[in-house]
Amino acid sequence: MMVNKRYGIHWFRRDLRIAGNESLRYNWSQHAGRVLGLFCFDSEFLKRADFSHNRFAFFLKTLRQLQSEMRQQGGDLLVVDAAPSKAFPQILNELKRSDYGLPSLVSWGRDYEPFARARDQQIENILQSFQVNHHTERDHLLMEPHEILKDDGGFYQVYSPYFKRWYASVLAEKGQRRIQAQKVSEGYAQRLIQGDLKNIFQTSWKDFKGLSFLDQLEHFESENKKSVTIAIPEAGFLTAYRRLQEFKNRVGDYTAQRDLPFLDGTSQLSLYQKNGSLVSSQILQTVGFRDQQFVKEIAWREFYYSILWHRPDVEASAFLPQYKNIKWQNDASWFQRWCEGTTGFPIVDAGMRQLNTTGWMHNRVRMIVASFLVKDLLIDWRWGENYFMKMLLDGDLAPNNGGWQWAASTGCDPQPYFRIFNPWLQAAKFDPDAEYIKQYVPELRDLPAKIIHAPDAERGIAGYPEPIVDHAVQKTKALQLFALSE
Ligand code: FAD
Repeated sequence: MMVNKRYGIHWFRRDLRIAGNESLRYNWSQHAGRVLGLFCFDSEFLKRADFSHNRFAFFLKTLRQLQSEMRQQGGDLLVVDAAPSKAFPQILNELKRSDYGLPSLVSWGRDYEPFARARDQQIENILQSFQVNHHTERDHLLMEPHEILKDDGGFYQVYSPYFKRWYASVLAEKGQRRIQAQKVSEGYAQRLIQGDLKNIFQTSWKDFKGLSFLDQLEHFESENKKSVTIAIPEAGFLTAYRRLQEFKNRVGDYTAQRDLPFLDGTSQLSLYQKNGSLVSSQILQTVGFRDQQFVKEIAWREFYYSILWHRPDVEASAFLPQYKNIKWQNDASWFQRWCEGTTGFPIVDAGMRQLNTTGWMHNRVRMIVASFLVKDLLIDWRWGENYFMKMLLDGDLAPNNGGWQWAASTGCDPQPYFRIFNPWLQAAKFDPDAEYIKQYVPELRDLPAKIIHAPDAERGIAGYPEPIVDHAVQKTKALQLFALSE
């Protein structure tokens, strides 16, 4: 059936959706729907220190949804067990020798992490050696890092002026065109809900008979599930779409509620953004620009991608050079207690337990626990960054690194290092009735909030520890540590 027909391959990476996927659409339009989906998983990733079986499980669920969505529409997604640099030569060689011949195009959505940039360059070279064209498109960022620059051509190191320019670009014709181009059609979402899909794809890997590639999705799922430690939420485009529609009705309360961890006041879309089940433009297209604070949060994510693009060294070390060699105290037993949520600081423990049991943590609490690790326990921010990557379902290098460096004062926050969060005051301000704390630290359930929030109170709860450190003492030590490093 396929012989002598031109076809393309779409290489999925972190754009795991069909709706509003522009590079997939381009490939599709070039081949009258004859596009095959491919995902390559490099098992070497399993050995990385920050590899997360929980996040991988969420990722696999997303892939499973995508595969099923493609198959329902006459297409297919093949998940292979090999690094792209091995998978592409193997697949292309086999196709070349077969009756089907080479694809005329490989497409993908652009990615900006240092690892991805090197990998994509390698794949471009491989494709060139096979004389196969490639086509890439912007995907998960509304504005790419090279597009939002200062008048002198340099990149923004401070968020506020970055936001000003980013926002102007989003409102300008280019931004609005992009938002329209990635728009999710309501008709598509409805057909997906009703299971009433048209055959938009005109080929599947099954049409390529006699080839040796095996779909490994099920294998990955069954191997990985043995190591999963939490309940993995539903994944994929439709789940994300529904979550977005539901958030649309709440966005009016966002500014008032977003800092209160005991409320469901934020969108909780970050985990879907991580895998590209939805992208920023689709979120803004749906919720609109009414809530400026929400738009600003979307822009924070893009700002951190810009920093990572222009300063890839931040992956390993401080953005501000004067803080590259701080003499952190790095007490391993304190770190362990921070990870477990047994520091005796109720808001910190609640946050860490939320992370450990759900794979997500509220942004305000992320800031509190990060500041606490660095400026109260005097532990290297990279230890915390790494632990977050292991535990967060939305773990994403750019915002995670940016968030940690912001909290540690080693990053691009214009505030100097002596702004130090007081965890007691933060808890009293953002969780006044200790509702959030009581949810995740049930040992404290019967105590009045004012006792929970008082640093010197006699809590006397069996099984709940006394505060691991004295905040005032540690604050002085942190200030000395930073001052010595300048
Ligand atoms: P909402 O409040 O609904 O915001 C909407 C979207 O804006 C989010 O989905 C996210 O994409 C973006 N956003 C919101 N706040 C921020 C922010 N402070 N920085 C960057 N983007 C933001 N976010 C991740 O996606 N992955 C991470 O690994 C990550 N690690 C973090 C580590 C630390 C120490 C800190 C302080 C923040 C981190 N963040 C990270 C940012 C932020 O906490 C999450 O994006 C947010 O909590 C996700 O919840 P939400 O979708 O309900 O956000």
